[in-house]
Amino acid sequence: MIKANDPSLKSWIEVDKNSDFPIQNLPFGIFKTENNKPSVGSRIGDKVIDLSALYVLGYFKNLPFEQSDFKSDALNTIMKKGKEATTDLRNRLSKLFNIENKDLSNNNHHVEQVLIDVEQVEMLMPVQVGDYTDFYSSRGHATNVGTLFRDPANALLPNWLWIPVGYHGRASSIIPSDQMIKRPKGQTRPNDDQDPIFGPSKLLDFELEMAFVTFDGKPLGENITTEEANDYIFGMCIMNDWSARDIQKWEYIPLGPFLAKNFASSISPWIVTMDALEPFKTKGPVQDPKVLSYLEYKGDFHYDIDLEVGIIPENSEETVVSKSNYKYMYWNMAQQLAHHTVNGCNIRCGDMMASGTISGDEPSSFGSMLELSWRGTKPIKMKDGSERKFINDNDTVVMRGHCNANGVRIGFGEVSTKVLPAE
Ligand code: MN
Repeated sequence: MIKANDPSLKSWIEVDKNSDFPIQNLPFGIFKTENNKPSVGSRIGDKVIDLSALYVLGYFKNLPFEQSDFKSDALNTIMKKGKEATTDLRNRLSKLFNIENKDLSNNNHHVEQVLIDVEQVEMLMPVQVGDYTDFYSSRGHATNVGTLFRDPANALLPNWLWIPVGYHGRASSIIPSDQMIKRPKGQTRPNDDQDPIFGPSKLLDFELEMAFVTFDGKPLGENITTEEANDYIFGMCIMNDWSARDIQKWEYIPLGPFLAKNFASSISPWIVTMDALEPFKTKGPVQDPKVLSYLEYKGDFHYDIDLEVGIIPENSEETVVSKSNYKYMYWNMAQQLAHHTVNGCNIRCGDMMASGTISGDEPSSFGSMLELSWRGTKPIKMKDGSERKFINDNDTVVMRGHCNANGVRIGFGEVSTKVLPAE
């Protein structure tokens, strides 16, 4: 077991029992305060930990980092140092904030420089994303989409059980939680026997996804096996992969999604490390037909992470519209990474790979409005009496995720995005 994951650990920083951030989490993110430049941070309870300050005060001795690695506007600087280095860094934080360690806690002058109230920081994009790939790895979601748009009897396309299907997305429009988006405009064809029209999307949707970020991979021409995959993945966040269903329907043939997907993908700002997620591993589904050998894997690569989506209409209260779980994935991260690189495609530090919409079998666990409202035929009731088939102007969509095991709860916080009207 990784020492920093020990369920018995307690911090000298107070942590509410429902917090996503006990000492067993120690995620990484980029934060900014009013008068200071962006910096690498971690978090316990409602305190953000300034890693740059810890470095300057001498608490990171014998770790392979420099100050510029922490006085940085992206986690890429620490990720560049590789898995062993970031594991050691998290372990050092675990030691410093352990209730039994007095090195830092006894020095009030230092504590003042290192800890900041979470209300006083702005969380920024955690990673400079080079390339973004979106998979399509939830069987429930692929089945629902196939049923809605093609043929219920043959909902899954013939390749789906053989290939972790994916496409190359757009990195430039990945944004952090709390950044508002405008309703996208584009071409749609509402009526199949008329010409297309131009205007604001009428079928704006969320996609409940999780994403992982990579360390530096291997050079072009080499591949990463399922057994090696764990060494190349830094951590995960929640992603709302915004989608304009009406634009998508008209444009996607034959090359797949384009403008329907590249106007925004919102992520939660804390990257929870694969180390921290280790205790929450769970068995994956039986894969039948048996996968080709490069997709075989040993051990567990699925994770039991409870996910939920809420919609907050303007000046109103939130209605939770979906409760899903990351364990519903058919293809796991090791298989996705092995497949992505099996042709020799190189992976770079800070690449982001998303799961695809995560839907379980139950209608209450569907991960998009397209599925929840069954293509608009079953409107969802909000607590304020209004109904939703898709997302309205001025709605805020919130996604959250957390895991529970051995009396420890760790989580991702949330990704929250308000939709402004099209201009
Ligand atoms: Mn997606």
